[in-house]
Amino acid sequence: MKSSIYGLTFDQLTNECTEAGYGAFHARQVWDSLYIDRVKSMDDLNVRDEVRDYLTEKYVISTQELFVKQEAGDGTVKFLLKLHDGHYIETVLMRHKYGRSVCVTTQVGCNIGCSFCASGLLKKTRDLTAGEVVEQIMTVQHFLDEEGEGDRVSHIVVMGIGEPFDNFDNLVDFLLVVKDERGLAIAPRKINVSTSGLADKIYKFADLDLRINLALSLHAPNDELRTRIMKINRAFPLDKLMPSIRYYVEKTNKRITFEYILLSKVNDLPEHAEELADLIEDIKDKSYVNLIPYNPVNEHIQYERSTPEDIMAFYDILKKRGVNTGVRLEHGTDIDAACGQLRSKHMNVEGAK
Ligand code: SAH
Ligand code: SF4
Repeated sequence: MKSSIYGLTFDQLTNECTEAGYGAFHARQVWDSLYIDRVKSMDDLNVRDEVRDYLTEKYVISTQELFVKQEAGDGTVKFLLKLHDGHYIETVLMRHKYGRSVCVTTQVGCNIGCSFCASGLLKKTRDLTAGEVVEQIMTVQHFLDEEGEGDRVSHIVVMGIGEPFDNFDNLVDFLLVVKDERGLAIAPRKINVSTSGLADKIYKFADLDLRINLALSLHAPNDELRTRIMKINRAFPLDKLMPSIRYYVEKTNKRITFEYILLSKVNDLPEHAEELADLIEDIKDKSYVNLIPYNPVNEHIQYERSTPEDIMAFYDILKKRGVNTGVRLEHGTDIDAACGQLRSKHMNVEGAK
């Protein structure tokens, strides 16, 4: 099976060209065809024949098939994509006032197994390659191109199924491709990567200093509670995790976002808000707490969404403590555009794992 040429960073594509004995400038022509003209077939690469033939021996453009596309009333579009080996992944386009944002998947399933997440119910089958993640962006960009309104994907959230830092090298190549100024040129400050908290990779990510935003799925202010809802906290408890976040903030001088899903009577009590404010006290000027109303995703998951009163009370305490915070707005709930749902439903229908 040939892999997608979208998986090559600009430097890797340049190496391909020079190793084959062709000038480095050919890489630029191929890149223009892929990301500016956005051709859909290797035959249409606007580059000299020998280079096109050489690349076509090794690569294809698309390895995925659009299986289902669902549009919600608010303009959100969910794409269910079939991979070359028969697995399904999903990608979501959200239309905001400030631009067009795509939520990408990084793994088939997820092994982190957070108790509130539908993706965690599907054990990881494999990592996606960098090309398979870029392809998701290109599927959406091609869809926007066909709409004909000149829209471009301007924002990316790496918040679909999977733990991006458990697929670190492919994640980084993906980020290098989409932020490349010669191509899609998606500004790093408009890209958000969310991790469940693999502290060792947070250090690595900080050292790369890609200027991309990082979000930590915190969801609890102490180890006892965090371990209960996210078993990854056993491997990376808060005394390992928080120093990695402080390191990230100091090294990059960027703000860190803490994601906090509010689960009724589990982690949404006033004492939890106080404890959260204590936990991040020393970096609160460099933090933003994103309060996320829990999305009841699956009959196997027992949590309930916090009441609007409890959400506001939690928010007010954080505000009083001088913490930057906000409540996340939802998109596409009428088409189940939250983490993992469409795929898990299809899997059930088809009787697959
Ligand atoms: N694995 C990464 C990124 C994917 S999940 C991570 O966990 O950070 C992206 C975000 O969606 C995370 O903050 C996750 O906690 C949240 N999420 C998962 N299930 C959810 C649900 N049922 N309702 C609301 N948010 C959910
Ligand atoms: Fe995996 Fe993130 Fe879901 Fe946890 S919340 S199971 S890390 S996708």
